[in-house]
Amino acid sequence: MKIHEYQAKQLFAQYAVPIPKGEVASTPAEARAVAEKLDCKVVVKAQVHVGGRGKAGGIKLAENAAQAEEAASQILGMNLKGLTVEKVLVEEAADIQAEYYLGITVDRARRRDVVMVSSVGGVDIEEVAVTAPDKIAKLHLDPAVGLLDFHVRRLAYEAGLPPETHRACGKFLHALYRCYQEIDASLAEINPLVFTGSGDLLATDAKINIDDSALFRQRKLAELREDQEDDPIEAEAHKRGVTYVRLDGDIGIIGNGAGLVMTTLDVVQREGGRPANFLDVGGGATAAQVELSIDTVLLDKNVKGIVINIFGGITRCDEVAKGIIGAVDSLDLAVPLVVRLTGTREEEGKALLAETALVPADSMQDAAQKIVALVGS
Ligand code: GDP
Ligand code: MN
Repeated sequence: MKIHEYQAKQLFAQYAVPIPKGEVASTPAEARAVAEKLDCKVVVKAQVHVGGRGKAGGIKLAENAAQAEEAASQILGMNLKGLTVEKVLVEEAADIQAEYYLGITVDRARRRDVVMVSSVGGVDIEEVAVTAPDKIAKLHLDPAVGLLDFHVRRLAYEAGLPPETHRACGKFLHALYRCYQEIDASLAEINPLVFTGSGDLLATDAKINIDDSALFRQRKLAELREDQEDDPIEAEAHKRGVTYVRLDGDIGIIGNGAGLVMTTLDVVQREGGRPANFLDVGGGATAAQVELSIDTVLLDKNVKGIVINIFGGITRCDEVAKGIIGAVDSLDLAVPLVVRLTGTREEEGKALLAETALVPADSMQDAAQKIVALVGS
């Protein structure tokens, strides 16, 4: 999960990583007010979930509050690599003498966290990584040992940072690593780490990605998630915790297990139908989950029929049948529904469905043929 620079900086502040003073603004007038409060030269920065904002015109310097307002009016609403800018960060501008790079991420191939330091940070770090990889000092951490003082000294030395910055750089790295670990980040990056005219180090940019698989225990951070889905139904499904992908056809597909659902999509397609979605109710699906799944599929008004394909293992067919019947009752289902149940408690499930107007199918093939005939696509 991506978070914005201003949010990453708030986290940095909690770990005592020095950052410039500043505040976020949603309108040019708010940006002006922040600049007035700061009362100095400021930088106005687009807050969007993409990198390279500087090069794309999303970062502007302003001498005073009036200029800050003008810069904000240019940046707000701007389209940056496909994303619309809705907020800007207005900060005290840094007096930049040199730009360094600090980053920590997961190296999957090595199964370790890797710490990276470079004395040539800034907007061209990606190019440096390709053309002069030796300018980036790297260290893979043993998870049982973590980041030690001598690691930090070695990194600063190998990166060629000026000796007078080594001690401060060490503090940044320790704080960054502690932050990275405690918030379950998959990336924590300061680029540039600025060496200022007064000889201090300052994190003028901040990038943090959080491991999605850790969001269940990072509740506060999970709230920072913004709907990045372009599709409103996918966004709603996500909110409901339903595994759903929207497609452009008119036959809703529900099954248990990703493989079974994908196969069902293929078979429906082969029979001449056009699937409207992928939806996996998962293992051990309860009646309530089945009902929620049907409701989710019906959010797409293109859906003219639904096929449900369940292989009962852990999932019990009678439980699924109850969910389907519940959904038909409570949702006032107006489209045909073909159901194929096989496996655990198949007979009980089929018996329950036999008393309804639902269309039973004996096999996946049979289900696909029936729904295609009913929908007529
Ligand atoms: P990114 O392009 O999205 O990575 O955004 P950054 O925050 O890294 O800013 C990009 C570049 O803008 C930096 O490398 C600096 O050269 C410049 N910049 C950003 N903030 C300041 C500032 O406070 N003062 C000055 N002089 N330049 C800045
Ligand atoms: Mn940057």
